[in-house]
This record gives sequence, C-alpha cells and structure tokens, in this order.
Amino acid sequence: MGKEALQNLLGPLDDASHAALLEKARRATLQRFGRTVQIYAPVYLSNECVDTCLYCGFSRTNRIPRRTLTVDEVVAETRHLIAQGFRHVLYVAGEHPLHVSPDYLESVLHSVRPLLSSVSIEVAPFGEGVYRRLAAAGLDGVVLYQETYDRSRYAEVHVAGPKRDFEKRLSHLEDAARAGIRHMGMGILLGLSDWREDAVALVGHVRRMQKRFWQSEIAISLPRLRPCESDYAPPHPVPDRDFLQLIAALRLALPDVGLVLSTREAPALRDRLIGLGVTRMSAGSRTEPGGYLHPEESLKQFEIEDRRSPADVAAAIEKKGYEPVWKDWENLL
Ligand code: SF4
Repeated sequence: MGKEALQNLLGPLDDASHAALLEKARRATLQRFGRTVQIYAPVYLSNECVDTCLYCGFSRTNRIPRRTLTVDEVVAETRHLIAQGFRHVLYVAGEHPLHVSPDYLESVLHSVRPLLSSVSIEVAPFGEGVYRRLAAAGLDGVVLYQETYDRSRYAEVHVAGPKRDFEKRLSHLEDAARAGIRHMGMGILLGLSDWREDAVALVGHVRRMQKRFWQSEIAISLPRLRPCESDYAPPHPVPDRDFLQLIAALRLALPDVGLVLSTREAPALRDRLIGLGVTRMSAGSRTEPGGYLHPEESLKQFEIEDRRSPADVAAAIEKKGYEPVWKDWENLL
C-alpha cells in the first residue's frame, strides 16, 4: 500500500466508509491471525526516572514516592501473575541508569526467564552490547515507543533527560534488532500530535525496520494519553471513532504486524476491538511497582480504565468467539 492509499484510509470518512473499513480490518485480522488474542501483563519494576516528560506520572520533577523492586519482589509479582495464567510478561520501568541498570535487569531475567514463555522489557534504551547481554540472559522482546514523530512536539514534551534526543531514541530499536532481539514493540502516544501524521510516520518507520531486520517480529501499540500525576492536557485528544479508524487502517497497511491494546481503554471499547485489528491485550494490569501484591495508588504511572480481572478479560474474548492465548505461541512453533 502506497502513501496516498494510506492517507486515504486515515482521512476523514463518512459513517458508511468508516463501517466498511472496520469490517475489512476484521476480515484481514481473521485471515492473518486466526481466532486468537494473546494476553500479557506488565510488571512495573521501578518508578525512578531521570527524564522530565510532561505527560508521564513518573516524570523526574513529580513529587511521588519512588521505589524499585528487589529481584525477590519481582519474582513474587511474576509468580502472582503466573498463578493467574500469564506466561508472557512485559517488565516496565522508568529510565534510571543506577536503579534499573543492565546488571539489575540481567539478574531479573535470570530469575524470571525459567518461569515464563516470553519476556519483554519496556525500560530505558541501551546500545547493542547491553542488548546482547540481556538477550543472552533470556530477553526476547524490546518495547520502545517513539511517542511522536513530530520533532517540535517531541522537543516540547521531553523537557530534560536522555529521552530528549529524538534521533538517538530512533536508533536504539535498531541496536536491539542487531543484537538479535526477536520481538520489537513500536508505537505512538496518542494525544501528543496529529494522529494521522504520526500514523503515516509510524508506518514508514515500521516498514524501514521490516526491510532491514526481516527476522524480527514487530508489534505496535497505540496508547491514548490518560490522567496521571503530571496533569497534562493532551493537545490532540483522539476520540473513540478516530481510534477505531486508526487501528483498522494500520491493520490493512501492515497486515503482518501485531497490534497491542492496553488496559488504558474502557472495557466496552476493548471488547469491541477483539478481532478488529488487535492481536494482543494486557489484562488485570497495575501500573505501579509492586502493585499486584501491594497496591499503592500514589506510585502508579497512569490511570487504567479496564479494571476487570484477567479471567474476566479472557471470558470476554471467548464470548466473542476468540481464543485467549496466555503464552507466546510463536515460540512454540
Ligand atoms: S515516559 Fe518514560 S522516560 Fe519519560 S518520565 Fe515517564 S518513565 Fe520516565
């Protein structure tokens, strides 16, 4: 699909064309991914962060209690998720070179990898050498969102810290791919900039990555900005109708790419999206370190909307005629 065709899919649509697009996306998803939806959960390792990002609850200048889990605490949180059925866990942390160092992550991976089918991280970016070390310790996925491809908005919201370097952030995903990490997570933070322009840029970035690193499997995530400690009002809020259009358009533009949906979204909308472009959903998430065993509202990164238990989310998937998959099925092939 060329740039013009993509721009047409993303352009303003009347109700009939909007409905037709969603139906096309539903059929394309069924054809490529079958009747399965993978379920995963995040474990928040730390809310320490050296960056100032205006939209994030963990931003350095926010006066919130800070903590980093010990490796034993990480294992306890992981076991709690395993008891609920999860075998695919995403470990999340703010950017902090001392608290969330390569050594710390290596210890976490050595402890949790034998318990799980698939382990990904969404933490500070590293260079190729560190990614190689982490891959050797069992890491198989790296999630690194560019947040927005609009450089001036990027500079405006990333006020201080290493994340402020737009180009460097772009290059780190390539470092991970070169290090042999197989699963790549990419994405934009909806609400920061014009979603249509960001989507065109994201598709271009994904295609460049696919061309250069054809062995990597890419999934994209489209979180919408949620209320958090930072009290940041999104300059470009994305209504539900546009959000549905975006997911459907990306499904058609990138037919082989997984689409991830988080618990930031409300249950009714999440249920509507089952089978409609989305291939992976988080469930039962807590967004603060230690949140599964010791919930502590003041530590969290953002508010979640879908507060259903993992079992309830799995039941909702089944009700739609799809199968919830708790393992990374690709690894079983
Ligand atoms: S978005 Fe990431 S880097 Fe920025 S403040 Fe939040 S945790 Fe830190």
